[in-house]
Parts: sequence; structure tokens; C-alpha cells
Amino acid sequence: MTAVLGAIADDFTGATDLANALVRQGMRTVLMLGQPTGPAPADVDALVIALKTRTIPADDAVKQSLDALAWLRQAGVRQVYFKYCSTFDSTDAGNIGPVSDALLEALDSDFSVVCPAFPGAGRTIYLGHLFVNGRLLSESSMRNHPLTPMHDADLVRVMGRQTPGAVGLVPLPAVSQGATALRAALETLKKAGKRYAVIDVAADQDLSSLAEAVADLPLVTAGSGLAIGLPAAYRRREWLPAYAVRETLAPADAGPALVLSGSCSEATQGQVAKMRGDAPAFELDPMALSRDADVVTQAIVWATQRLPRGPVLIYSTAEPARVQSAQRWLGTERAAELLEGAFAAIARALLASGVRRFIVAGGETAGAVVQALEVKALRIGQEIDPGVPWTVAEGAPRLALALKSGNFGAPDFFAKALRMAP
Ligand code: ADP
Repeated sequence: MTAVLGAIADDFTGATDLANALVRQGMRTVLMLGQPTGPAPADVDALVIALKTRTIPADDAVKQSLDALAWLRQAGVRQVYFKYCSTFDSTDAGNIGPVSDALLEALDSDFSVVCPAFPGAGRTIYLGHLFVNGRLLSESSMRNHPLTPMHDADLVRVMGRQTPGAVGLVPLPAVSQGATALRAALETLKKAGKRYAVIDVAADQDLSSLAEAVADLPLVTAGSGLAIGLPAAYRRREWLPAYAVRETLAPADAGPALVLSGSCSEATQGQVAKMRGDAPAFELDPMALSRDADVVTQAIVWATQRLPRGPVLIYSTAEPARVQSAQRWLGTERAAELLEGAFAAIARALLASGVRRFIVAGGETAGAVVQALEVKALRIGQEIDPGVPWTVAEGAPRLALALKSGNFGAPDFFAKALRMAP
């Protein structure tokens, strides 16, 4: 049986989050890291491709997404899911609009939905406005994000700036009436010439209704929340067996554990502060990296000496004022480039010295690290905190990886992840 769902995620932690949601609902899922080559794996229900396209130039993001789409179509998937962050991380230049437009065109379609909502993680949408833990997106800590600061909570307006297509809204009363009313509302917007419909969502039930209403569309665009309802919608169509399939995961190789954190999100700041009190920690400062290339070697030597005695933390996590000051001196891109390059080099060197468990905080950071580790495909294991599972790499060595999106996880996330390592 070929896969039902093919997903393209714009970052690595987001892809993990989506694959995790699908696995929890009994879909056999393989997470491919970067553009896959060769034939699709057999006996899977969902293929999730993790790209690192959130903050690269829009043209490049479009090209990579279309390549991923071509591979998924070759694999014969019934529905394509463009997965972005539940805080709609993007800029006016993209990349959510340009990528969605290109995917729609390639699929010969002219309509899709826009829905980053994930009530379980505090992301709801009302009158098109995205709320994060009860605050407007633009008043949440996302306003200080190093790469994609979000200053506007009105998703109709935000998406409208990223696409020449018209953007409409299905307000909550229509959504909460259920799938039939929602489908009718979508049809009305489509007839009115809208290319995208932003969907209000207050609760998981709304996502289930949405999934039922859109399961036949060639393309959906959403955060991972929509995956709450899609497997059930597919089962109702008999595209999946009626029962949930649980696969057992082969164990990872034994070896020391390393925590790398390049996320500056609020949740990560707390998690890093907590781990710094419990384990050896090394701070990577972008200013120091720009002055002295030896900092990377120092970090590697420092970690190599300590890893035999237990896990260590290497982090660049800093509060907004310090991030902004580094960005003013170095430029935003240069600061990110220096740090991601450093995390990649450190991960590569410590893999060579025997590390087999990597916990990485930050979507962009995880992308850089996993590319450096040359991992091509992952299977999903136990969930550490909502949206963040342990994963095990296919092939050799069998690395265990936990890729945590910035704002996910409880304050003791790192300790919990280390305790649960496969
Ligand atoms: P999140 O998942 O929290 O969004 P990401 O890794 O995706 O985390 O993004 C964080 C970005 O901030 C990365 O590009 C990283 O290089 C950059 N960054 C991390 N630490 C610093 C710092 N101390 N100064 C400036 N930029 C930083």
C-alpha cells in the first residue's frame, strides 16, 4: 500500500512534531531529513520530509519544496501537507505564501486552508488572529524571535502580504458547527475567488472538523495541529486500516549524550538555565566566534574531556537584548551563520568521538546539526513532552535524536529527555 499522506515541513523540529502526531494516532510514518533520493520506503502510511526552508530566500524555498513534492507524487501520496510553525514563523517576503502558491500550482489546484492552530500547545485562532497562550501573537515572545519576529497577529493580513492570491476567513461559528458547515463555508470562499481560507480554531474538536472538511483537498497548509484530525478522516474514507498500527522501534546504539541549544525562545531559556545548574555547560557567543575561530575547537576539546562522565550542554541561548546586540554588530544572518556553523562542526566532531545521543533545541539549529550528522531518515519513538519525541536514525550508526522546537517542553525537558533516551 502506498502512503496516504506526504508532508513537507519547513524546519526539522516541526517535521518531528508532525511525524510524532501521526505516529501517536497509529500511522506508520517515516521522517526523511532533506530531499530524499531513491524510492520511497514501503509499508508506510505517511512520509514527512523535513526541509530547512523557513528563513532562506523564497526562490530557494520554493525550489526545494517543489523537489520534495515531485518525490512525494512519485511515491503516490493522496494528500500533500505543507507544515509550518504553530506561530506562523515567516516574514513578509515569505516563505509560507510563496511555497503554498507554488505547491498549489504544481498540484493543479487553486484553493487551500491556512491553519497554524494547536490548542493543546496554547495556539488558537479567533477572527483570524493567532493567540499564543492567550496573548496575541504580536504580544507574545515571538515578537523577539531572532529570525522571524512576528509583529502582526492577523493571519489574513500576514498571509495576504505573502501571496498575490486572495485570503479569506472561516470564523469560529461556522467552524464549531462541524465539518458540513465548514465545508460549505470553504466552498463559498472558493467561489468568491479566495485562494486561501484562514480557519478559526478554539479547541481540538475544531481541528477534527477541519480535517474532515479538507481531507479530499490536494493540499493543506497548517501547523502540526491539523494532524490531530487527519488520520481519523482518512480512516473514515478507508484509506487507512480501521485500527491504529504501533511499530516497535529498534534501540539506538550506546554512547554518551550531548545537549546543543541554539534556540533563544522563552521556554528554551528556562530549560538551559535549569540544565546549567545540573551539568557542565559551555556557552557559544557569536561575538567570540566572529573574533576567534578557535572557539569551536575549544568547545570540542572541553566536551570530549567531560562526556565520558556524563551529558554536557553547549548553548548559545541568550535573552533578547544580547541577541539583538550581537545582531547589530554582526548582522542577523551572519550571527545565525556563525552559530549554526559552530553547532554543526561541534556535532560532527563529537559524533566522531563516540556521542550517540543528541538533544538539540531550536528548529534552525536542529536543521544545521542533523545535516552535519548526515542522518537521512528517522523513526519516531517515545514522546518526551508534547510534540517532542525521541527518534532513532535509520542506518548506521543508529543515533538517538531529540529535536526540540524552541517553545516546546517543560522546564526540566533536558533532564527528562536524558532519562528517557532510547
Ligand atoms: P527556535 O526553535 O527557538 O526558533 P532556532 O534554532 O530555529 O530556534 O532559531 C534561533 C536562531 O537564533 C538561530 O538561527 C540561531 O543561530 C540564532 N541565535 C542563537 N543564539 C544566538 C545569540 N546568542 N545571538 C544571536 N543569534 C542567536
